[in-house]
Parts: sequence; C-alpha cells; structure tokens
Amino acid sequence: MKRLLLLLLLGLGVQAEGLTDDWVNLQRLEPSFKLEMAYATPNNFLKAAVYPQALCLLHRPVAERLKMAQQALLQQGYGLKLWDCYRPLSVQKKMWAIVPDDRYVADPSQGSRHNRGAAVDVTLVTAQGQPLEMPTGFDDFSPKASPSARDQWTPEARTHFEVLRKAMTDAGFAPLASEWWHFDYNGWKAYPVSDFPLAER
Ligand SMILES: [Zn+2]
Repeated sequence: MKRLLLLLLLGLGVQAEGLTDDWVNLQRLEPSFKLEMAYATPNNFLKAAVYPQALCLLHRPVAERLKMAQQALLQQGYGLKLWDCYRPLSVQKKMWAIVPDDRYVADPSQGSRHNRGAAVDVTLVTAQGQPLEMPTGFDDFSPKASPSARDQWTPEARTHFEVLRKAMTDAGFAPLASEWWHFDYNGWKAYPVSDFPLAER
C-alpha cells in the first residue's frame, strides 16, 4: 500500500513537472535572490524600459532548480543576482530589430529560451548582494563575453565565473558559448514560447 502511494506521488510529481502554465515569481519562492531587471529600466541596449515592472517569472521547475543553485552558493558566501528571466516574445522582436545577430539575441522566429520561461541571465554577488568582479557587464555584445575568451578575463573574474558556472550546471542548467551570464534550464524544450505581458500570473 505504501509502495502504491509512493508511486502515485511520484506520478503526480512528473505530471507537475510537465505543466506548462505553472509560473512562479522567483523572489516570492526564495527572497534571498537579488533582482536588477535591466529591461525594466532604460539602462539596457534598447535604451528604453520595455518591462512594466521588475519581476522574475519562471516555470516552477526552473525556479526550483535556481533555488538549489542559490542555496549552494549561500553556503559558500555568494548569491545570485538576476538580470532577466521570462521575456515576452514581443520584447524579443524589439531586441532582434536592434541586434539581428543570433550569437547575442535569439531570432524571434525561433523564439528565445527566455520566451519559454526556461532561461536566466544571472551574475554572482556576495551573500549580502554586493557586486563582484565578473568578465564583462551585462549585454556586452563582444567576443570578451564568451567563456572561451577567459584568457582575456582577470583572475578574479575567472574565479567568480567558475563559481557561478559550477553552481548553475550542478543545479541543471547549461551555459551558453557566447554570453557568460546566460544559462538554459536543461528541460527548456518542455515549455512553449509565450507572449503574455510581464505581470504576475
Ligand atoms: Zn539570456
């Protein structure tokens, strides 16, 4: 009987993982995350605030995995600061109009993993949220932003990226070849491209 119950619960868990409309406000799930949502301010390459508010929305399994990374980092005296999470497809189209280069901006005809609520732009901070030296600033569309350019980075930036990369990959995310700050949730294919306005669901 116990075994049956366990199987039933496991079955429900799998089903929950597959739900596509299970959005989570990351900071509500785990308040220790820092947010600096660049696209909610004019301080981004679009030179305009394209989000109505600073909000990190992700599908629940993605947010839970990110929380695992955060917990591992807090134990080492570090933490995560988010620059971008879910991004509506309409915003993706505005970005593509300015930077039509798929090394740095996903082609909206394919959709970005951000549009699926399954990718994050993230940097390492101290556990108190103070900035640390990293390879480049956010949305630095240059070769130096690539992890393969690490020989151009300072030793401090290399160390901090390595701490970030390990925490993220251990938690189930994959790094991107062209941007050190971007990580895809390994199960991103399960989620469709979305275009609802950035607001709590
Ligand atoms: Zn990204």
